[in-house]
Amino acid sequence: MTLEFLQDERARLVRLGLWRTLRPLESPTGPVVTVAGCELLQLSSNDYLGLSADGRLRAAAAAASEVWGTGTGASRLITGTNLLHTEVEARLAALKGAADAVLFSSGYLANLGTIQALVGPKDAVVSDTLNHASIIDGCRLSGARILVYPHADPTAAAQLLEKARREGARRLLLITDSVFSMDGDLAPLVALSQVARRHQAIFMVDEAHATLLLGEGRGAVSGLGLRAELEVDVIVGTCSKAVGALGGFVAGSRELCDFLRNRARSFVFDTAPPAGVLGAIRRALELSEAEPERRQRVLAHARRLADALRALDYAVPEPAAAIVPVMIGEAERALRLAERLRELGILAVAIRPPTVPPGTARLRLCPIATHSDEQIDEVIAAFARLREVVLRG
Ligand SMILES: *Cc1c(COP(=O)(O)O)cnc(C)c1O
Repeated sequence: MTLEFLQDERARLVRLGLWRTLRPLESPTGPVVTVAGCELLQLSSNDYLGLSADGRLRAAAAAASEVWGTGTGASRLITGTNLLHTEVEARLAALKGAADAVLFSSGYLANLGTIQALVGPKDAVVSDTLNHASIIDGCRLSGARILVYPHADPTAAAQLLEKARREGARRLLLITDSVFSMDGDLAPLVALSQVARRHQAIFMVDEAHATLLLGEGRGAVSGLGLRAELEVDVIVGTCSKAVGALGGFVAGSRELCDFLRNRARSFVFDTAPPAGVLGAIRRALELSEAEPERRQRVLAHARRLADALRALDYAVPEPAAAIVPVMIGEAERALRLAERLRELGILAVAIRPPTVPPGTARLRLCPIATHSDEQIDEVIAAFARLREVVLRG
């Protein structure tokens, strides 16, 4: 009886085109996947380098599990840390040019725990309006005052930092995605880092969609000539996307990382990630360095896709990395387009509120390194066929 409201809530979401269901894959993720018995060309994963089904990562995961077992049995500070954790943390720190790195079980947990550890009710966070949900949740959980600036606007960010300081905030945290997860554009990191320094704010950048893609794989921070610790205090990354495994991390000074190991609740109270995941991460970091052509391929696919769809009059912003959003508007229309694409053998999931603001539903296309040029051509051809449907509404 007490859960009766669930039926109404479901009906409401169905009416709005916002009800979502799980569609399990019947194959590993990759350029082509099997769903409900159909082979579909997939453009909806964040497996940017195509590593998650790579035989060498599978072998590395299996070998590490063979040696260390499948679970870790405890949180990191109890007996959950083994030699693989310390090795992977050192490699992630090196990737980001930082003194140290802390591994979490996911990027979501990295943001949640880090923001909560760094700021509290006496402090203020200044956050881009399009920042990832895990950042928003971390800000809410911290109890700090939250001031949201218009997307990618360093001047507005500066004004909010000044306002927070004037109104008595103790610590200030300026926080942004580097590559935005649903829009694919790049934050003005150089200007924001200057704003942060001028206002003595901690500067935190989430590189979930730039790690192993931009800046020779080191991320957008490094690609723009910004240095860990000096210009960016806190760099967040995930091992769940281009790395092809699972986990999140924070790179920064030794002091910062040791503090997080003590105070980030999502680190302290969470069981340590298992060896299989760590073995895969370690191998992925080696492969991304040995095979730079993987990131060159995916970035080239994204640019070609964006240019071709724009030439067909679709609204497609310039991709900074590998995310190509096709802006549609109403959720229902985005769903219809996704359905028609599926009839043409293409899996491109419609992204709707609450993942994106109301009225900005879109198809978020993410090519991966293991798509062939012909497969990208096929996607462009499908959008060409559906052009009339979409433009006429
Ligand atoms: C995906 C994502 C996360 C969460 O990382 P997970 O490892 O998937 O939990 C955090 N921040 C951004 C910007 C993301 O896109």
